Amino acid sequence: MIRVAVVGYGTIGKRIADAVAKQRDMVLVGIAKTKPDYAALSAARKGYRIFAPKSELERFAKAGIEVSGTIDDLVEEADIVVDATPKGVGATNRAEVYDKHDVKAVFQGGEKPSVAEVSFNALANYDEAVNKRYIRVVSCNTTAILRIVAAMRLWGLELEKLRVFIARRGADPKEYGRGPINDVVLDPPAVPSHHADDVRTVVPNLDIVTMAVAIPTTIAHIHFLHATLKDRVSRDQVVEALYRTPRIALFESRYGFKSVAQVIEWARDIGRLRGDVPENIVFLDTVDVRGRELFLVMAVHQESIVIPENIDAIRAAMGIRNAWSSIRATDESLGLVSEGKRYG
Ligand code: NAD
Repeated sequence: MIRVAVVGYGTIGKRIADAVAKQRDMVLVGIAKTKPDYAALSAARKGYRIFAPKSELERFAKAGIEVSGTIDDLVEEADIVVDATPKGVGATNRAEVYDKHDVKAVFQGGEKPSVAEVSFNALANYDEAVNKRYIRVVSCNTTAILRIVAAMRLWGLELEKLRVFIARRGADPKEYGRGPINDVVLDPPAVPSHHADDVRTVVPNLDIVTMAVAIPTTIAHIHFLHATLKDRVSRDQVVEALYRTPRIALFESRYGFKSVAQVIEWARDIGRLRGDVPENIVFLDTVDVRGRELFLVMAVHQESIVIPENIDAIRAAMGIRNAWSSIRATDESLGLVSEGKRYG
């Protein structure tokens, strides 16, 4: 069993903890919390062991939340830490905590690529991450783009260039203090946005340009993707490639799917935890091919898309060499859409 610690129990960390708890080859040794808040209460109710900074132990005791030790104690018990703390904190934790322990770590996309030996996407470069001590799972938008790049490669549809126009969600649902609430904000006021460089941390030579704005929604990001392929392809070939690639789900208007909220409602209806959709949400009716040009619109559920990648990153770091066996185990445990999918 791989002993996993989760440090940072927010939007991403709580989902990783739940996913780790579902893996047959992993055990969640505990989670690190800095505040004795409602998230700590819900973690305790799930039976997760809670660890906290030494300076906060008294506050947890006063709040009646049992703590099993300090964050150093948690790291000491683990083979690997998944760090899901806010942007930049992961790098500090690496320097101040992980480097001093005999432990591996998986970081998130808010960290600079230099925090780890490799930036990671399971479909695109699992093999490069095998046995690495420090791995960085790229951000939510980058993960979605890399899955499309990987799908094209897996099924022999070579990309010449890729252009992606991103309307980024303004905040996560719980982030009451963030915006915009009535605006469209250039993010950044320049071309390209940082997403292109982030994609190239995994696929270095890709000709990709990204542009982004932030919009007043908390549900998901939306991507308008325009690719030029090296050869002429048919729409059927592209649809087949997307259909057969894990973690890409196709939603059709004939079943009533015309919006992102409907997809989240579908996820709630089928009993997905928190209504999560970790797959790329590709709207099938928008997939259009003209000669070598491919167009599609997809949504990215930012709160959950990187969760399967974190689970695979753990296995890669721990030396599990078979990417497809990891991807299959992860997807089955999370109940991801898999009908008609081939796993290589
Ligand atoms: P979050 O703010 O929801 O959660 C971070 C948690 O870490 C908070 O609960 C905070 O209190 C806690 N924390 C802060 N310092 C800590 C420390 N030293 N030790 C332990 N816990 C600490 O943030 P998030 O949205 O989950 O983002 C985490 C990472 O995931 C970031 O790198 C982010 O860029 C990345 N990411 C976020 C999203 C998203 O849409 N939310 C998507 C993909 C990747």
